[in-house]
Amino acid sequence: EAKRRHCGIAFAADIGTGPAHEQLSLIGEMREAMANGEFVVFYQPKLALRSGRIVAAEALLRWNHPERGMIAPSRFIPFAEQTGFIREITPWLLDAVIQQLALWQGAGLDIAVSANLSALDLLDAGLSGRVSGLLKRHGVAAERLCLEITESALMDDPALALEHLAELAALGIKLSIDDYGVGQASLTYLKSLPVNELKLDRSFITAIAESPKDSAIVLSTIMLSHALGLSVVAEGVETPADLHWLMEHGCDIAQGYGIARPMPAQQLPGWIASYSA
Ligand code: C2E
Ligand code: CA
Ligand code: CA
Ligand code: CA
Repeated sequence: EAKRRHCGIAFAADIGTGPAHEQLSLIGEMREAMANGEFVVFYQPKLALRSGRIVAAEALLRWNHPERGMIAPSRFIPFAEQTGFIREITPWLLDAVIQQLALWQGAGLDIAVSANLSALDLLDAGLSGRVSGLLKRHGVAAERLCLEITESALMDDPALALEHLAELAALGIKLSIDDYGVGQASLTYLKSLPVNELKLDRSFITAIAESPKDSAIVLSTIMLSHALGLSVVAEGVETPADLHWLMEHGCDIAQGYGIARPMPAQQLPGWIASYSA
């Protein structure tokens, strides 16, 4: 225990370009952290704007480090992606999320969960088989799981990613385009991908009530999505004014600090109960 902590590893952002032995030691540290239960999944509620109900939550990974405290995913996910360690994280995360869905389902909580996929996950031929096995084992309906993918994650090998996404969609799993609007070739992908949801990038939402350009982009994206039969999620909703604007303009779902911050799984049912009360 002391031995693996002693090196005082700098963090992913600093180490990603560091010497190979440091990278190896950080991968080892992450692997051990996962085995020790230091990786935890937080859940951020997604509010359906027409019904006013919490219909889903996004699973967001944190590393609860014994010395450094709660480490945000931006500090280690990019490194895990660069080194391929994400191939170990994603199956762990999906297992945790599907087990959590089964628990909530058993407790009568009617909620869907979104999980984030990385570019490497989309190239993994075993992904859909693994996910469908987990759903069956835990008795969770595929429709309760949504997988969020970014446009940039599709770029490595679009044809292969599309093949794997089609397998996931055929199982009944929902697909969402994350950070929509900041990637490339978005309209081409919208045409060919079996997606159900667009998540407008936070950067368009931040000034939505004041910026005519941002509101024009958001409004036209809402219209485009609805014409394509997709639902629109606004992320980064921080103020009542943002929420009001989105409600007025037909956005389907909102997520952001203005509704709730990501929270531990155990807090979510109580939070939802008091939110709807
Ligand atoms: P993302 O998928 O775009 O997730 C949304 C991020 O925005 C989360 O940050 C969330 O806490 C934050 N956020 C939510 N509402 C607001 C708001 O109102 N204002 C602001 N300023 N931020 C808000 P988080 O949890 O730090 O995650 C950052 C990124 O790390 C995620 O961005 C995602 O790309 C990645 N990530 C997180 N968990 C996972 C995971 O399990 N797997 C993979 N592959 N990536 C993950
Ligand atoms: Ca996301
Ligand atoms: Ca996002
Ligand atoms: Ca993001």
